[in-house]
Amino acid sequence: MKLIGGASTTTVTCPNCGVKSTQAASKIRLKQAMLCPGCKSLFIASR
Ligand SMILES: [Zn+2]
Repeated sequence: MKLIGGASTTTVTCPNCGVKSTQAASKIRLKQAMLCPGCKSLFIASR
C-alpha cells in the first residue's frame, strides 16, 4: 500500500450496520471520521 499521494484507498466495514465501503487510507491513518454509505453515520475505523 502506498503512503504517498493520498490516492490509495482501503475497504472498511461500518461498525454500525456492517456495510463495507471504500475510504481513503489517509483518513484511517489520521483517524478521521468516515461517512458510511449505508447508514449515513460517521465512524472512525480501527485497524
Ligand atoms: Zn453504516
